[in-house]
Amino acid sequence: MESNRDLDLDPNKDDLPLRANTNHMLVRHYVLDLTVHFQRKVIGGSIVLFLEPGVVSSKHGELGDISNTPVQNLSQVSSKHDVSSPITPEPNKVIPPEEPSCLCGGNDVRSVLWGDESEEFTLVLDCCDLTVSKVEELDVTTVPDLKKLDVDQQHANTDHQSSSLVQRLVSMPSLSWRLQHELYIQCSRSPTVHNAQPLRFHTDRWSLQIRKDGVCAPRDFPRAVRIWYETKLTGGSVRWTKDQDSRCCVYTMGSPINNRALFPCQEPPVAMSTWQARVRAPCDYTVLMSGENQAFPKPAETGFLQWDYYVTMPMPASTFTIAVGQWLEAGVKHPNFEVEKTDKPYKKELSVSLDNDDQQYVCSHMDYPCRFMASAARTQTVIPHRVFAPPCHLQKANDMVLPLLPLCLTAAHSVLGVHPFSRLDVLIVPSGFSSLGMASVLTGVRNLCGARLCHEIAHSWFGLAIGARDWTEEWISEGFATYLEDVFWSHVQKLGCREAEEQRQLKALLRWRRLSDELQNSEEELQVLRPNKENTGEVSESGASVVKHALNPEKPFMQVHYLKGYFLLKFLADQVGEEKFLDFFKVFVGKFHGQLILSQDFLQMLLDTFPGMSSRSITLEAIFSDWLDTPEMPEWLRDSCSEWLRTPVVQKVKEEVAKWIHFSGSAGKGSKRKRAGPKVNFKELSPEQLVLLLEFLLEEPMLSLSTLRLLQTTYNLQAQDAEVKHRWCELAVKHKHTAAYRDVEQFLIHDQAMGWYLYGELMVQEDARQQALARRCLSIIKDDMEQSACSVVEEMIL
Ligand SMILES: [Zn+2]
Repeated sequence: MESNRDLDLDPNKDDLPLRANTNHMLVRHYVLDLTVHFQRKVIGGSIVLFLEPGVVSSKHGELGDISNTPVQNLSQVSSKHDVSSPITPEPNKVIPPEEPSCLCGGNDVRSVLWGDESEEFTLVLDCCDLTVSKVEELDVTTVPDLKKLDVDQQHANTDHQSSSLVQRLVSMPSLSWRLQHELYIQCSRSPTVHNAQPLRFHTDRWSLQIRKDGVCAPRDFPRAVRIWYETKLTGGSVRWTKDQDSRCCVYTMGSPINNRALFPCQEPPVAMSTWQARVRAPCDYTVLMSGENQAFPKPAETGFLQWDYYVTMPMPASTFTIAVGQWLEAGVKHPNFEVEKTDKPYKKELSVSLDNDDQQYVCSHMDYPCRFMASAARTQTVIPHRVFAPPCHLQKANDMVLPLLPLCLTAAHSVLGVHPFSRLDVLIVPSGFSSLGMASVLTGVRNLCGARLCHEIAHSWFGLAIGARDWTEEWISEGFATYLEDVFWSHVQKLGCREAEEQRQLKALLRWRRLSDELQNSEEELQVLRPNKENTGEVSESGASVVKHALNPEKPFMQVHYLKGYFLLKFLADQVGEEKFLDFFKVFVGKFHGQLILSQDFLQMLLDTFPGMSSRSITLEAIFSDWLDTPEMPEWLRDSCSEWLRTPVVQKVKEEVAKWIHFSGSAGKGSKRKRAGPKVNFKELSPEQLVLLLEFLLEEPMLSLSTLRLLQTTYNLQAQDAEVKHRWCELAVKHKHTAAYRDVEQFLIHDQAMGWYLYGELMVQEDARQQALARRCLSIIKDDMEQSACSVVEEMIL
């Protein structure tokens, strides 16, 4: 525990370094071959990297000419944590048989021998908390099918032939992606170069560095490299936990360090690559991954099944996700994948033919089999989709999520056009502490669940198909998804214009209240949507950079990127009218899908499309200074809020609030007079209205016990969605309503992501029973919590 505290105090911890020297060398493709060991809570195996020397160097002359430049050491802090010994097995850990046990051959390089001043070229990969045991150069000349690519047979020298073959492989046109993938697999299994020493490597806290004796330029560096490694239990990329049925599972959880503790990779978003992954897991487990295909398991070694996934669209390594658990598929009678293989029409993957059948359409991204180019894909309103859940949530997944998905997908298609990806899996994961688990949205009526699905679907466009070139501009994915969530959801509900508008104003008001609360209670630095301002997107000569505040422990709890980003889009929509604004979205997506963007790419194109905006003083500079580069609440929002307060749906809530306050002040007083009190006719409210009602009531200094009781029975509060329950718990804590402490406890355990704020509330009143409740809940969930989140809460309650 003490040593963890030390790490927390590291001043370097707030910013996340991206060390990979992507300007010198780029990973074009990864082949992962991994096994999930549940007993040891370890994922281990190998990853093969297919590399290409950086194109950036061509600016200065020949390809690879500047390669002698030493890799910039961004982090000057050389604390004791930087020294690690990659080959020392941890105590009580058994090295698995598939891991090479021979660690000789120059592989054991201690930091003393690893001078930064080396003349040799260093391949730097982002990596932490991995036990790397060996790094090898592969001899791809042993792959006969690959050699056929080298039609000219011009390379006598094997070294050059190998490089040239990999170059041809990574440059294959997207039309031949199937052959290309087959060759990648064959190459990934090829032997190491005959008589060669393993490559030298060194790990420090944030990176894995690889060198080859005598190689001083990227162009001479091996192009196919295999790394043997295992994850560590302390690694932050995956979460080992129990599902809601108390069975083991493991999944990537949107960690601030992304995937670098799952596999060594190039994290800077510009390093877009494709991947293939084979993952072995025990037979009773299901492996889900963010691949484009739907994998069917094949028998592997005894007791294991293997699952193969791939993507053909180059994407940042951070978008890779995996979830392994004993999930069941909703809507399937016999949840046995091998039995159920055929039948369903969508199981047959829509094959994207690459003849550009729409001659008017031209993609601007690098070559990959793009769905925007295929008319069959363009007209597909609902893509193949599945829902997985642990058994206890299967019914809910079946009743609520499964029927909603096609509606949400259709809505998204009608707003934005072609789905960028060929399929969608939704998994009901346990509620994590810093991420809202899908399980949290399964209670109550379908509103929260539907909105959440719409949000996730919107990420296919904003977040995945179009990513942020600078990770500090998180609003590009979260602000857009929050804005589009409302748009999609009104489509699903088939609301009339007026009704839809009223609902959106109510949501805007709720978000305004949330934002305003957050802005008052957070560091100013964290309130800025474009923290790098005019330097956004800039990287060092090697391609390395630092993501500001990415590791700030408060950050996972903040929603400013979601909320302020959403309001900026709402503000812009107000300027041009929503219909035109959404038409513009379609055009924007057509132009920028498959690429990374900065805020200005979107804003400039918008301003160019609607020149009238600048005549109203809405310029790029004004948007930066009002919305993106400064903390606090933008001016426009202060004025709009009063308008949203006048909406009829909000007025109705106010009327109900008045009734409750009156009730509490008169007949509600004292439990004895309760029954004699006047019968109040409370009106039915939507879940969003209910949230607002409870928020207004939270502002009341006094509420009688009978009022709280009647509130609960009138709205059946403990059965409502997580947003409603959250406010109900706050009320119970504020007024020490002990009868509802059970609800508070359940909420803190099952809706961890939303509950963290309540811990503070429970402590602040210095009530012994409340404090005991907080400590009890934390002790129950502590083992499943991420370390940083746990520290934040411990700080509150210790
Ligand atoms: Zn395209």
